[in-house]
Amino acid sequence: MKILNIALQKDGKLTASSYELIEAAKSLGGEIYTLILAENASELATDLASHGGGKVIAISNPALKFVNDDIYCKVIKEIVGKYNPDLVLGSASFYGKSLFGRLATLLGSPLASDITNIESDGDSVKVTRPSHGGSVIAKVGSNTSTPFCATVRMKIYAESKDGNGEVVEETVDASAFESKMTVKDMKVESAGALNLTEADVIVAAGRGIKGAENLPMINDLAESLGGAVGASRAIVDAGWIAYSHQVGQTGKTVNPKLYVAVGISGAIQHLVGMQTSKNIVAINKDKDAPIFNIANYGIVGDALEIVPALTKKFKEAL
Ligand SMILES: Cc1cc2nc3c(=O)[nH]c(=O)nc-3n(C[C@H](O)[C@H](O)[C@H](O)COP(=O)(O)OP(=O)(O)OC[C@H]3O[C@@H](n4cnc5c(N)ncnc54)[C@H](O)[C@@H]3O)c2cc1C
Repeated sequence: MKILNIALQKDGKLTASSYELIEAAKSLGGEIYTLILAENASELATDLASHGGGKVIAISNPALKFVNDDIYCKVIKEIVGKYNPDLVLGSASFYGKSLFGRLATLLGSPLASDITNIESDGDSVKVTRPSHGGSVIAKVGSNTSTPFCATVRMKIYAESKDGNGEVVEETVDASAFESKMTVKDMKVESAGALNLTEADVIVAAGRGIKGAENLPMINDLAESLGGAVGASRAIVDAGWIAYSHQVGQTGKTVNPKLYVAVGISGAIQHLVGMQTSKNIVAINKDKDAPIFNIANYGIVGDALEIVPALTKKFKEAL
């Protein structure tokens, strides 16, 4: 089986999920190819090769500096046509999901989005895809002659640490770099904030924190744990925090090692975005709050007292 990973870069640096894709591909035991598109892709390709990216295809062009779905999909389509992979893997990140919807359409391929496992018997592939908020686990396979496309949920696979590979510099038809859409610049919404979907620790706040004036205590706890700040939709809608922090059905799907839910009731629309977190700690004054049904550890009490006390303890411990 031939597997083509679509690695991505941001600001000229490889995303953590690029290495996770390699690990996912390794678990299938097939022939691994990894594609990296960038303004200058050579060094990134060498890095991917040294992490087990197999045959790493590097394409460099100024038009590839930012992820532009239109251009990226045309380039990927050409590479797919040349290398004929059976499986094309991307990350279920903000960029990956956007890219793969268009790519699968362009290739006429089936797409399984946000998968949590892949298995192969050598010829065919079967993926696991949670749906209906995780209450249904679908096993999806494909027997079409077109490549099967899938985006892999972030932080499910570890980052590939080592391995062998070789770099192949490729070019594609110049028309692939033409687009009616130009991405001129990208700005991070909250400078310095950790990327929520890549964070190992997330401290998330809900309506139980009472008001935007109490967000600094959430930032302090997150900072003391080296983590990022998440939020329920209730406090995003209330205008206490930017949408980029929202976790859940209409926000981000996260999978950190530790998720601390502060004053969050545990509505299903929130749970679907965080319930695969490795450890969940819930702080809520209502002992019957649904969040406790999925929490590994629960603290019943007033968040306004508990959060600063925890932060103090963590700071002392460091
Ligand atoms: C189509 C759709 C999509 C949605 N998408 C999302 C989504 O992506 N993400 C999301 O989060 N929601 C989403 N929602 C909204 C969701 O249904 C809930 O309304 C929302 O998650 C509730 O947010 P919350 O837990 O912060 O607030 P609440 O449900 O009001 O819960 C507040 C909690 O704080 C506790 N509390 C109160 N005071 C304290 C205190 N002093 N100390 C400790 N605890 C305290 C309370 O006991 C309560 O459990 C969506 C809804 C719909 C219909």
